[in-house]
Amino acid sequence: MIELRTPAEIERMHEAGRFVASVLEATAAASAVGVNLLSLDRLAHDMIRKRGAESCYIDYHPSFGASPFGKVICTSVNDAALHGLPHDYRLRDGDVLSLDFAASVGGWVSDSALTIVVGTPRAEDLALIDATSRALDAGIAAATVGNRIGDISAAIGGVANAAGLTVNTDFGGHGVGRTMHGDPHLPNDGRPGRGLPLRAGLVFAIEPWFMLGTDKIYTDADGWTLRSKDGSRAAHFEHTVAITDNGPIVLSARS
Ligand code: MG
Repeated sequence: MIELRTPAEIERMHEAGRFVASVLEATAAASAVGVNLLSLDRLAHDMIRKRGAESCYIDYHPSFGASPFGKVICTSVNDAALHGLPHDYRLRDGDVLSLDFAASVGGWVSDSALTIVVGTPRAEDLALIDATSRALDAGIAAATVGNRIGDISAAIGGVANAAGLTVNTDFGGHGVGRTMHGDPHLPNDGRPGRGLPLRAGLVFAIEPWFMLGTDKIYTDADGWTLRSKDGSRAAHFEHTVAITDNGPIVLSARS
């Protein structure tokens, strides 16, 4: 079911978005060579506790998950594309790290992700990260009243195709509200002018994620982490976006 949010509800969702942004800023700033992924999870956990927020991940147990996630942030390193389960791993020079975080504040959810390089970057990783970030910007720019959901998908897929990247459409954007995942589903590629008409009050997560060499993934032995089938590196950017009559508002925008 598609739900529309009032301006007052969108402002409350903005509070959740600001908190999610602050956690991503803090965990990204703490990510350095030698830092353990488990300490990034602890940092996010501490911030949740101090804010009185609720994690969307810790008890998350969808049909494709082996068991409840058990952590509060996804840390996907190098060939890990999505749902990276934090584990006892110290970041190394040149690692590509995607941080994906969602939390509920006052009963409203925000969901956001970013990718950084730890230490010395490789040129091809920077190009991948840049294309994925630009795809998110293009998707947000297409999130306007009068467009359709296929216009967002086409904008994201167009950036990928221009960068020579293929798109996996198994996982994509989704409605966000009182829970993390709702309707509509938002594929990261598609045809313009198709699908749900975009209306003021729609709030969803737009989240392009691309891999350098493939569009195929497999699930790691941890039951959660999704890795590229060919071992190539991945990047992921996500914002929670509200559609309004005055254009899209990025509720999880970082300062
Ligand atoms: Mg997310």
